[in-house]
Amino acid sequence: AKCTKMIACLGRIVHDTDAESKPDDVASSISKSLDLQGSIESAGITGVAGRDFGGLYSVESLALIKPSGAEDIARVVKAASRTSHLTVAARGNGHSINGQAMADGGLVIDMRSTEENHFTFSTINGSPYIDVSGGALWEDVLTRCVLTLGLAPRSWTDYLSLTVGGTLSNAGVSGQTFRYGPQTSNVTELEVVTGKGEITVCSENQNSELFFAVLGGLGQFGIITRARVKLQPVPDMVRWIRVVYSEFEEFSRDAEFLVIQKEGESFDYVEGFVFSNNDDPVNGWPSVPLDPDHEFNPAHIPQTAGSVLYCLEGAFHYRNGDHPSTVDTAVSRLLGRLGFVELLKFQVDLSYKEFLLRVKRTEEHAKANGVWDSPHPWLNLFVSKSDIADFDRTVFKKMVKDGVGGPMLVYPLLRNKWDNRTSVALPEGEIFYIVALLRFVTKGPSVEDLVAQNHEIVKWCIKAGLDFKLYLPHYQSIEDWKRHFGNQWTRFMERKACFDPMAILAPGQKIFKRTH
Ligand code: FAD
Repeated sequence: AKCTKMIACLGRIVHDTDAESKPDDVASSISKSLDLQGSIESAGITGVAGRDFGGLYSVESLALIKPSGAEDIARVVKAASRTSHLTVAARGNGHSINGQAMADGGLVIDMRSTEENHFTFSTINGSPYIDVSGGALWEDVLTRCVLTLGLAPRSWTDYLSLTVGGTLSNAGVSGQTFRYGPQTSNVTELEVVTGKGEITVCSENQNSELFFAVLGGLGQFGIITRARVKLQPVPDMVRWIRVVYSEFEEFSRDAEFLVIQKEGESFDYVEGFVFSNNDDPVNGWPSVPLDPDHEFNPAHIPQTAGSVLYCLEGAFHYRNGDHPSTVDTAVSRLLGRLGFVELLKFQVDLSYKEFLLRVKRTEEHAKANGVWDSPHPWLNLFVSKSDIADFDRTVFKKMVKDGVGGPMLVYPLLRNKWDNRTSVALPEGEIFYIVALLRFVTKGPSVEDLVAQNHEIVKWCIKAGLDFKLYLPHYQSIEDWKRHFGNQWTRFMERKACFDPMAILAPGQKIFKRTH
C-alpha cells in the first residue's frame, strides 16, 4: 500500500512510474527523474523521518531524501512545487520536540547527508570565519575547528549533537549568549534554498531580507545549506563553577550582575538552574555537584529556604600557560562579589572541549538508563526580568517544585545582543530569562499529564499577563501563532509570501498550509 501511495503522490514528478514497482524501485526511479546526485528512500512511519527527540508525535512521510548538496535540495523543492500538495521538511538531527522537522505525507530531506560539505576558513577584515554545512553537527564543527585551526565559534548550545541549520532556524542559546548573542547573531553569510527552489547567498548586505528571515525563521523561508560562522581563539582550559542560593532574589540579582559586566570582568559563560530542596537523586541536591567526589552537605542550607533552591553556574576560560594563582585570584574576585550560600560551592577544571561536550556525558548515562529514548515533553520560554520573580513564585516554587526529571534552567540574557531584524520573537524587556523545563519521563505522571502541565504553565503566563514568548514555539492554531509573533506577524507573513509562497517548507511547524 505504501508503494502505491508513494507512486500516486509522486506521479506528477515521475511520469514513467510502474505501479507494480517495489518502494526501492520507485525511489530509484524518482531519483533518476530528479537527477539527484544523492539518494532517496521510502520513509515509512518507523523510519528516522517520522520520529524526533520529543517522542510525542510520529507521522508517515512519503520519502526520505539524502541530498548531496544544495543543487539536489533545490531540485526536490522545485519538484514539490510542481505538485498540488507536496511539502518538504529539512531534518537536521531531529532534536525537535513537537514534530517540527516532519512532513506528513511529504518529503523529508536528511541534512546530515550534507554534513561534510564546506569547511572553508577565511579572514575578513582581520576576523576569522569558517563556512560549514547547514547539515553539520556543532560537535563536529567544534572538533574540526579546534583541531585544524585552534579556533572555535563563540556562541553555543548546551548540547552539540544539533545541526547548524537546526539551531539557526530557532536561535541557539547557551551560557555564552549574554556576551555574544545567540548563534543567530554569530553568522555573517548563509547559502539558502528558498521555497521557490532558488539557491541564494545572503548576508546583512546581500539579499538581506532573506538572511534575516531565515535566522530564527523556523525553517519557513529557506533551507540553510551553508553558514559562515564567526570564530575566536580557543582557551585551553575552563574552570566550571556552581554556587547555590536559597533565595531567588539573590540568585537573579547576582546572575544579572554577571551578565551586564564588560568582557574580561565576568565569567565567560553564565547559566543557572532550579532544583528541589531534597535529596532526590535527579531533581534535588545530588544534581548539583560537578564531580562524584564532591559532597552536597544539606546542613549548609539556610533554615529559611523554601521548596526549591537555585544554582548559578559560571565558567572561566584560561590557557595552560596561565599561572594557577592568577586563575584562582580572578575567580575568587568574581565569586567575592556574589552572595551565594557559603560552603555550597563546587568547581572543576577541564579542557575547553570537555566543557563544551559536557552534555554528551549526560546523554551517555541517559542512554544507558533508557531515559534518553523515552518521550521529552519539554517547555522552553523567554520570560522578562520584570516577571521572572512572579514566575518563580508560581511555577518553580509551586507547580514544578518536585522537579521535572531533568534540568530546570533559568538564566538571564540581554536583548541588545539579539538582532531584531531576524524572525525570532522575544519579550519586550531589555533583560529576559530563558526558562527550560527539560523533562525526562521515567516513572510517575504520564506524558499526557506532563504535556497538560506545560499547557497549564503557558495558560497561567497568558492569564497573569506576563511579558513572555515560547522558545522553540509550538502551537496548533493560527490565532496562537499570531499572538506569538505579535507586531512581527505581518512581517513574518510577508516574508513567507516572498520566499515560500506555496508554503512548501517546514510543514511540521504548523504555521501555514500548503497552497497551489
Ligand atoms: P531539527 O529538529 O531536525 O529541525 C528543527 C527545525 O528546523 C525544523 O522545522 C526543520 O525543518 C528546520 N531545519 C532543520 N535543518 C534546517 C536547515 N538546514 N535549514 C532550515 N531549516 C532547517 N537549543 C538551544 O538553543 N540551546 C540549547 O542548549 C539546546 N539544547 C538542547 C539539548 C537537547 C538534548 C535537545 C534535544 C535540544 C536542545 N536544544 C537547544 C533545542 C535545539 O536547538 C532545537 O530543537 C533544534 O532545532 C534542534 O536541531 P536539529 O538539528 O535537531 O533540528
